[in-house]
Amino acid sequence: GKLRSSLLKLQSSPSDAVTTETLNAVLSDISRALIESDVNVKLVMTMRTNIQKKVGDLVSDGPASRGNNPNIARLVQKAVVDELTAILSPSGPTATKPYVMKRNKPNIILFVGLQGAGKTTSIAKFAHYYQRKGWKTAMVCADTFRAGAFDQLKQNATKLRIPFYGSYTEADPVVIAEEGVERFVSDGYEVIIVDTSGRHRQEEALFEEMREISDAVRPDDTVFVMDATQGQAVYDQALAFHGAVKVGSVIVTKLDGHAKGGGALSAVAATGSPIIFLGSGERFEDLDPFNAKSFVSKLLGFGDMRGLMEEMKSISDGKSQEELMENMSKGKFTLRDMYKQFQQVMKIGPLNKVMGMIPGMPEYLIPNGDDESTNRLRKFMYMMDSMNDAELDGKIDLHLKNDPNVEKRIRRIAAGSGTHPTEVKMLLQAHKQFEGVVSKMGKSGMMGKAGAARQ
Ligand code: GDP
Ligand code: MG
Repeated sequence: GKLRSSLLKLQSSPSDAVTTETLNAVLSDISRALIESDVNVKLVMTMRTNIQKKVGDLVSDGPASRGNNPNIARLVQKAVVDELTAILSPSGPTATKPYVMKRNKPNIILFVGLQGAGKTTSIAKFAHYYQRKGWKTAMVCADTFRAGAFDQLKQNATKLRIPFYGSYTEADPVVIAEEGVERFVSDGYEVIIVDTSGRHRQEEALFEEMREISDAVRPDDTVFVMDATQGQAVYDQALAFHGAVKVGSVIVTKLDGHAKGGGALSAVAATGSPIIFLGSGERFEDLDPFNAKSFVSKLLGFGDMRGLMEEMKSISDGKSQEELMENMSKGKFTLRDMYKQFQQVMKIGPLNKVMGMIPGMPEYLIPNGDDESTNRLRKFMYMMDSMNDAELDGKIDLHLKNDPNVEKRIRRIAAGSGTHPTEVKMLLQAHKQFEGVVSKMGKSGMMGKAGAARQ
């Protein structure tokens, strides 16, 4: 909430009042907010210097100012986004280019990271991802440290119908890694993924083991898996792994929880390697290709209900917003609430500023420069216009699957709004997503403050 509100502070001050002093105060606020989101302190300081260089001249008492600059808030905001995006898109002579899988040859991918980071889970997702795209995929379990590690990989592989290699008796992970990779290379596999063990702490024994496995299988890419909930600790972790085995890619897991994800910037900065995927759940499908821009917009806005509410409050008639906040603070979120949200969003515009602030906002609704998402939003509203009160207020549950009565209603709503039933289902899915976030926030008491702010 801090970040948005400090930027709003700039926006609301008369432009001739934006002095070096105001700018410094705002940059301090932003820095603090980023550090609270687990962004590494050194990175934040570098970023701050860069922003100061970019916009410092433009404030009303700056050397290059031509009087007022009403766009200063926007410029600062853009500079923040640009700086964060740049950190996440490593470039320059020492940066690693993302590894590109090659067809019809073995691509050996080694996964490393601390215990519990999500390696084995991510390997299954990663394998599933490539298998679905038609790659001949296999997995090797070179984790002999953790009891049950082989069973875990085996279970995933069996569910996914992906060949695997491992051993209950061989205690040397280097031997297993080597044998497994050799077997799958000679069988013509294209994506061969090697799972390794972790430790709870960074230990020399772990890094030695990683070095030996890496020397034995000579990976085409080494993926460092980091747990987003670990926050600031990630920088040293990433640096240590990078020192032992040259990390080429990063996967950030557990972004579905309350993690702010700022640690991801640290991993990229420490390894000079790009993030390739984000893990957002425990299912095989919960792996999303990484996009720096949308990650940054989430980092800056995720869960920023208060900022959003404040902005909305200033525009809307207070009463319906109060009701909405009341509902949301109880973790309740009906289709009607969503309708009201969209209505406010349409009023406020420009969309991109606000959409990223709504927690749980599905990716495809966050504008990417064209009018597509605005149109989609409008369509969604037509659909909700075609719903009756009971449906809007959740007295009739449109989320029931395989219910002929619900199917009939969906067809009616589609017909009434000139849309297709699959589009109505998309709307319902978006609502479900929102509802999930709101109910989580309601339970965690995150909305409590917003509710209290009404008095
Ligand atoms: P490893 O020790 O690095 O192999 O970690 P695991 O793959 O065994 O994962 C540790 C725990 O984190 C398991 O309970 C996983 O289900 C969970 N996990 C992994 N990735 C995610 C994720 O993206 N989201 C959530 N919520 N849980 C995850
Ligand atoms: Mg594991």
